[in-house]
Amino acid sequence: LIELRHVNKYFGELHVLQDIDLTVGKGEVVVVIGPSGSGKSTLCRAINRLEPVESGEIRLDGQPLAEEGRELARLRAEIGMVFQSFNLFAHKTVLQNVSLAQTKVRGRKKAQADKRSLELLDRVGLASQAPKYPAQLSGGQQQRVAIARALAMDPKALLFDEPTSALDPEMINEVLEVMQQLARDGMTMVVVTHEMGFARSAADRVVFMADGRIVEDRTPEEFFTDPRSDRAKDFLSKIL
Ligand code: ATP
Ligand code: MG
Repeated sequence: LIELRHVNKYFGELHVLQDIDLTVGKGEVVVVIGPSGSGKSTLCRAINRLEPVESGEIRLDGQPLAEEGRELARLRAEIGMVFQSFNLFAHKTVLQNVSLAQTKVRGRKKAQADKRSLELLDRVGLASQAPKYPAQLSGGQQQRVAIARALAMDPKALLFDEPTSALDPEMINEVLEVMQQLARDGMTMVVVTHEMGFARSAADRVVFMADGRIVEDRTPEEFFTDPRSDRAKDFLSKIL
Protein backbone atom coordinates (compact mmCIF):
# COMPACT_ATOMS: atom_id res chain seq x y z
CA LEU A 1 0.00 0.00 0.00
CA ILE A 2 2.85 2.37 0.90
CA GLU A 3 6.10 1.93 -0.99
CA LEU A 4 9.34 3.86 -0.66
CA ARG A 5 12.20 3.11 -3.03
CA HIS A 6 15.66 4.60 -2.68
CA VAL A 7 14.35 7.66 -0.87
CA ASN A 8 16.96 10.25 0.03
CA LYS A 9 16.52 13.49 1.88
CA TYR A 10 18.96 16.13 3.08
CA PHE A 11 18.70 19.01 5.50
CA GLY A 12 21.63 21.01 4.13
CA GLU A 13 24.65 18.78 4.71
CA LEU A 14 22.74 16.33 6.86
CA HIS A 15 21.70 13.20 4.96
CA VAL A 16 18.63 12.57 7.08
CA LEU A 17 17.04 9.78 5.01
CA GLN A 18 19.58 7.51 3.35
CA ASP A 19 18.37 5.27 0.58
CA ILE A 20 15.20 4.25 2.40
CA ASP A 21 13.35 1.20 1.07
CA LEU A 22 10.15 0.42 2.89
CA THR A 23 6.99 -1.41 1.95
CA VAL A 24 3.88 -1.37 4.09
CA GLY A 25 1.20 -3.77 2.93
CA LYS A 26 -2.53 -3.28 3.31
CA GLY A 27 -3.56 -3.97 6.89
CA GLU A 28 0.02 -4.10 8.08
CA VAL A 29 1.22 -2.40 11.27
CA VAL A 30 4.81 -1.23 11.10
CA VAL A 31 6.39 0.20 14.23
CA VAL A 32 9.37 2.49 13.67
CA ILE A 33 11.84 2.85 16.51
CA GLY A 34 15.29 4.30 16.88
CA PRO A 35 17.36 6.87 18.70
CA SER A 36 16.51 10.57 18.74
CA GLY A 37 17.52 12.26 15.49
CA SER A 38 17.60 9.04 13.48
CA GLY A 39 15.01 10.38 11.02
CA LYS A 40 11.77 8.74 12.21
CA SER A 41 9.66 11.91 12.09
CA THR A 42 11.19 12.94 8.79
CA LEU A 43 10.27 9.53 7.37
CA CYS A 44 6.63 9.98 8.44
CA ARG A 45 6.52 13.48 7.03
CA ALA A 46 8.09 12.33 3.77
CA ILE A 47 5.46 9.62 3.37
CA ASN A 48 2.67 12.16 3.04
CA ARG A 49 4.87 14.82 1.47
CA LEU A 50 4.88 17.25 4.35
CA GLU A 51 8.62 17.13 3.64
CA PRO A 52 9.97 17.09 0.09
CA VAL A 53 12.62 14.48 -0.69
CA GLU A 54 15.60 14.85 -3.00
CA SER A 55 15.35 11.52 -4.74
CA GLY A 56 13.53 8.22 -4.77
CA GLU A 57 9.96 7.16 -5.21
CA ILE A 58 7.09 7.23 -2.78
CA ARG A 59 3.94 5.45 -3.87
CA LEU A 60 0.55 5.07 -2.28
CA ASP A 61 -1.56 2.27 -3.73
CA GLY A 62 0.83 2.15 -6.68
CA GLN A 63 0.39 5.84 -7.45
CA PRO A 64 3.35 8.19 -7.11
CA LEU A 65 2.56 11.08 -4.78
CA ALA A 66 2.34 14.30 -6.73
CA GLU A 67 4.62 17.13 -5.70
CA GLU A 68 1.93 19.75 -5.45
CA GLY A 69 -1.57 20.89 -6.28
CA ARG A 70 -4.94 19.28 -5.90
CA GLU A 71 -3.59 15.81 -6.51
CA LEU A 72 -1.30 16.21 -3.53
CA ALA A 73 -4.13 17.43 -1.30
CA ARG A 74 -6.25 14.48 -2.35
CA LEU A 75 -3.50 11.94 -1.77
CA ARG A 76 -2.51 13.53 1.51
CA ALA A 77 -6.07 13.08 2.72
CA GLU A 78 -5.67 9.35 2.06
CA ILE A 79 -3.02 9.13 4.77
CA GLY A 80 -4.10 10.33 8.19
CA MET A 81 -1.50 11.64 10.58
CA VAL A 82 -1.51 11.78 14.36
CA PHE A 83 1.22 13.76 16.08
CA GLN A 84 2.63 14.02 19.55
CA SER A 85 0.83 17.35 20.00
CA PHE A 86 -2.81 16.82 19.24
CA ASN A 87 -3.26 20.04 17.22
CA LEU A 88 -6.98 20.31 17.90
CA PHE A 89 -8.71 23.63 17.22
CA ALA A 90 -9.11 25.16 20.68
CA HIS A 91 -12.13 27.26 19.78
CA LYS A 92 -14.08 24.46 18.21
CA THR A 93 -15.93 21.70 19.99
CA VAL A 94 -14.81 18.11 19.86
CA LEU A 95 -17.57 17.38 17.34
CA GLN A 96 -16.58 20.36 15.17
CA ASN A 97 -12.94 19.28 15.28
CA VAL A 98 -13.85 15.88 13.87
CA SER A 99 -16.38 17.21 11.35
CA LEU A 100 -14.48 20.17 9.93
CA ALA A 101 -12.23 18.48 7.38
CA GLN A 102 -15.05 16.16 6.32
CA THR A 103 -17.06 19.15 5.07
CA LYS A 104 -14.05 21.07 3.72
CA VAL A 105 -12.00 18.28 2.13
CA ARG A 106 -14.50 15.49 1.56
CA GLY A 107 -17.40 17.77 0.68
CA ARG A 108 -19.83 16.12 3.08
CA LYS A 109 -22.95 17.92 4.26
CA LYS A 110 -22.73 19.06 7.86
CA ALA A 111 -25.39 16.64 9.13
CA GLN A 112 -23.70 13.74 7.37
CA ALA A 113 -20.28 14.75 8.74
CA ASP A 114 -21.61 15.09 12.28
CA LYS A 115 -23.22 11.68 12.10
CA ARG A 116 -19.95 10.12 11.00
CA SER A 117 -18.07 12.08 13.69
CA LEU A 118 -20.33 10.74 16.42
CA GLU A 119 -19.78 7.18 15.20
CA LEU A 120 -16.02 7.70 15.31
CA LEU A 121 -16.11 9.42 18.69
CA ASP A 122 -18.06 6.44 19.95
CA ARG A 123 -15.38 4.15 18.54
CA VAL A 124 -12.69 5.95 20.56
CA GLY A 125 -14.94 6.02 23.63
CA LEU A 126 -15.75 9.72 23.58
CA ALA A 127 -19.26 10.14 22.18
CA SER A 128 -20.37 11.85 25.39
CA GLN A 129 -17.60 14.47 25.06
CA ALA A 130 -18.75 15.74 21.65
CA PRO A 131 -20.08 19.14 22.83
CA LYS A 132 -17.00 19.96 24.94
CA TYR A 133 -13.97 22.01 23.99
CA PRO A 134 -10.49 20.46 23.81
CA ALA A 135 -9.29 22.27 26.95
CA GLN A 136 -12.01 20.49 28.95
CA LEU A 137 -10.53 17.10 28.02
CA SER A 138 -7.52 15.22 29.35
CA GLY A 139 -4.50 14.75 27.13
CA GLY A 140 -5.43 11.14 26.48
CA GLN A 141 -8.94 12.14 25.48
CA GLN A 142 -7.63 14.89 23.20
CA GLN A 143 -5.35 12.42 21.47
CA ARG A 144 -8.28 10.07 20.96
CA VAL A 145 -10.21 12.96 19.38
CA ALA A 146 -7.22 13.52 17.08
CA ILE A 147 -7.40 9.85 16.08
CA ALA A 148 -11.14 10.14 15.40
CA ARG A 149 -10.45 13.23 13.31
CA ALA A 150 -7.84 11.36 11.26
CA LEU A 151 -10.25 8.44 10.76
CA ALA A 152 -12.97 10.81 9.58
CA MET A 153 -11.12 11.21 6.28
CA ASP A 154 -11.52 7.47 5.66
CA PRO A 155 -7.76 7.22 5.17
CA LYS A 156 -6.08 4.25 3.50
CA ALA A 157 -3.39 4.39 6.15
CA LEU A 158 -2.60 6.18 9.39
CA LEU A 159 0.78 7.53 10.45
CA PHE A 160 1.44 8.07 14.15
CA ASP A 161 4.46 10.07 15.30
CA GLU A 162 5.02 9.42 19.01
CA PRO A 163 1.30 9.72 19.79
CA THR A 164 1.74 9.03 23.50
CA SER A 165 4.98 10.89 24.20
CA ALA A 166 3.29 14.05 25.45
CA LEU A 167 0.88 12.19 27.72
CA ASP A 168 0.94 11.57 31.44
CA PRO A 169 1.66 7.89 32.10
CA GLU A 170 -1.86 7.05 33.25
CA MET A 171 -3.27 8.23 29.91
CA ILE A 172 -0.95 6.32 27.64
CA ASN A 173 -2.87 3.05 27.76
CA GLU A 174 -6.22 4.47 26.73
CA VAL A 175 -4.61 5.78 23.55
CA LEU A 176 -2.64 2.59 22.90
CA GLU A 177 -5.83 0.56 23.35
CA VAL A 178 -7.57 2.58 20.64
CA MET A 179 -4.56 2.00 18.38
CA GLN A 180 -4.55 -1.72 19.17
CA GLN A 181 -8.21 -1.90 18.22
CA LEU A 182 -7.53 -0.11 14.92
CA ALA A 183 -4.74 -2.58 14.23
CA ARG A 184 -7.08 -5.50 14.92
CA ASP A 185 -9.68 -3.93 12.63
CA GLY A 186 -7.15 -4.10 9.80
CA MET A 187 -6.06 -0.47 9.54
CA THR A 188 -2.72 0.03 7.79
CA MET A 189 -0.51 1.84 10.27
CA VAL A 190 3.00 3.24 10.56
CA VAL A 191 3.70 4.02 14.20
CA VAL A 192 6.74 5.81 15.57
CA THR A 193 6.78 5.03 19.27
CA HIS A 194 8.91 4.22 22.28
CA GLU A 195 6.18 1.96 23.63
CA MET A 196 7.84 -1.42 23.25
CA GLY A 197 4.82 -3.24 24.68
CA PHE A 198 2.76 -1.89 21.80
CA ALA A 199 5.48 -2.84 19.31
CA ARG A 200 5.56 -6.40 20.64
CA SER A 201 1.83 -6.93 20.70
CA ALA A 202 0.54 -4.92 17.72
CA ALA A 203 3.35 -4.72 15.18
CA ASP A 204 3.65 -7.02 12.21
CA ARG A 205 7.14 -5.58 11.68
CA VAL A 206 9.57 -3.46 13.60
CA VAL A 207 11.72 -1.06 11.60
CA PHE A 208 14.79 0.14 13.48
CA MET A 209 16.36 3.35 12.22
CA ALA A 210 19.74 4.85 13.04
CA ASP A 211 21.49 7.79 11.37
CA GLY A 212 18.93 8.06 8.60
CA ARG A 213 19.06 4.41 7.61
CA ILE A 214 16.81 1.44 8.13
CA VAL A 215 19.12 -0.88 10.01
CA GLU A 216 16.66 -3.67 10.75
CA ASP A 217 13.21 -4.52 9.37
CA ARG A 218 11.95 -7.70 11.04
CA THR A 219 9.15 -9.22 13.05
CA PRO A 220 8.93 -7.98 16.66
CA GLU A 221 9.71 -11.49 17.87
CA GLU A 222 12.96 -11.59 15.88
CA PHE A 223 13.91 -8.03 16.64
CA PHE A 224 13.43 -8.16 20.39
CA THR A 225 14.88 -11.60 20.97
CA ASP A 226 17.76 -11.42 18.51
CA PRO A 227 18.69 -7.91 17.33
CA ARG A 228 21.44 -8.26 14.74
CA SER A 229 23.03 -4.84 14.61
CA ASP A 230 25.13 -3.29 17.34
CA ARG A 231 23.03 -0.13 17.05
CA ALA A 232 19.85 -2.03 17.84
CA LYS A 233 21.47 -3.99 20.67
CA ASP A 234 22.74 -0.78 22.18
CA PHE A 235 19.34 0.92 21.78
CA LEU A 236 17.45 -1.98 23.33
CA SER A 237 19.85 -2.25 26.24
CA LYS A 238 19.06 1.39 27.10
CA ILE A 239 15.30 1.19 26.93
CA LEU A 240 14.35 -2.30 28.06
P1 ATP B 1 13.16 12.14 17.78
O1 ATP B 1 13.17 10.75 18.35
O2 ATP B 1 13.95 13.08 18.63
O3 ATP B 1 11.81 12.64 17.46
P2 ATP B 1 13.58 11.60 14.95
O4 ATP B 1 14.12 10.23 14.73
O5 ATP B 1 12.14 11.82 14.74
O6 ATP B 1 14.02 12.06 16.42
P3 ATP B 1 13.92 13.66 12.97
O7 ATP B 1 13.03 14.65 13.64
O8 ATP B 1 13.40 12.99 11.77
O9 ATP B 1 14.42 12.56 14.02
O10 ATP B 1 15.27 14.40 12.66
C1 ATP B 1 16.36 13.77 12.01
C2 ATP B 1 17.50 14.74 11.90
O11 ATP B 1 17.15 15.81 11.05
C3 ATP B 1 17.90 15.37 13.22
O12 ATP B 1 19.31 15.48 13.25
C4 ATP B 1 17.27 16.73 13.19
O13 ATP B 1 18.01 17.66 13.92
C5 ATP B 1 17.27 17.06 11.71
N1 ATP B 1 16.14 17.91 11.30
C6 ATP B 1 14.83 17.62 11.48
N2 ATP B 1 14.05 18.58 10.94
C7 ATP B 1 14.89 19.51 10.44
C8 ATP B 1 14.70 20.75 9.75
N3 ATP B 1 13.47 21.21 9.46
N4 ATP B 1 15.80 21.44 9.37
C9 ATP B 1 17.04 20.97 9.63
N5 ATP B 1 17.29 19.79 10.27
C10 ATP B 1 16.24 19.08 10.67
MG1 MG C 1 10.61 12.53 15.94
